[in-house]
Amino acid sequence: MHWVGRVVFAAAAEDPQTMIPIKTPAELQKMRASNRIIAIVLEEIEPLVKAGVSTWELDEWAEKKIRSLGAEPGFKGYGFPPFPTTLCVSINEEVVHGIPRRERLLQEGDIVGVDVGCVLEGYWGDGARTYAVGKVDEQASELIRTCKAALDEAVKSIGPGSRLREIALAVERTVAPKKYGIIRDLTGHGIGRHLHEDPQIFNYDTGEKGPKLREGMTLAIEPMIAAGSWQVRTLEDRWTVVTADSSLSAHWEYTVAITAGGTEVLTRA
Ligand code: MG
Repeated sequence: MHWVGRVVFAAAAEDPQTMIPIKTPAELQKMRASNRIIAIVLEEIEPLVKAGVSTWELDEWAEKKIRSLGAEPGFKGYGFPPFPTTLCVSINEEVVHGIPRRERLLQEGDIVGVDVGCVLEGYWGDGARTYAVGKVDEQASELIRTCKAALDEAVKSIGPGSRLREIALAVERTVAPKKYGIIRDLTGHGIGRHLHEDPQIFNYDTGEKGPKLREGMTLAIEPMIAAGSWQVRTLEDRWTVVTADSSLSAHWEYTVAITAGGTEVLTRA
């Protein structure tokens, strides 16, 4: 999930240069545990994402799964108006923050972004993937592949000492040859004791090199791209973000720790 409403910064320890929270080894262990639950949900939900299933059913399954693993759904009640469900399920032109509904059934050929957050022992997990429902056309599968490739490239491009800007540059160089839009209105974020911590992580180059990354930072990196333009609008439910031109959109998100040797993806299955 993304920045919504008030921005909250808080941590036991911060990098004095950047105000970005630095996690202790004990806190990192907790981040591993909460994000492992996210990885399990995103892995195990894949076979359930099929034609005829309602987004509500996916949500009920995910809530039970998270609770059975000892964590709390993170998004339910989050923000304003309070987000009503455990998952964000965003279909086709919906970019992010789609609200699961009993009457919304998946159809063959849809592409479906599933974003999930949880809290375990006070530490947040956050991750997302975009799935294909049955057979999708080549344009849709290329969009999904490119979004994941952009995220993988971003993660490979950073480590201790990197500038935050490397993330945006990696997303741009992956996406540019395809002429897809990179969503600008939503960003990734630091994550830890709060869902949204410093820094805000842009997926397009703002021209600012940004803060230097340091071991112990934990970041939710989440490119969102569209087959058409990057422009988006929010529906009347005040959550669902759709592409302004109704083009297909994909979203992929990992929570990542900066380590001495580079990065560790905490939401990898
Ligand atoms: Mg997020």
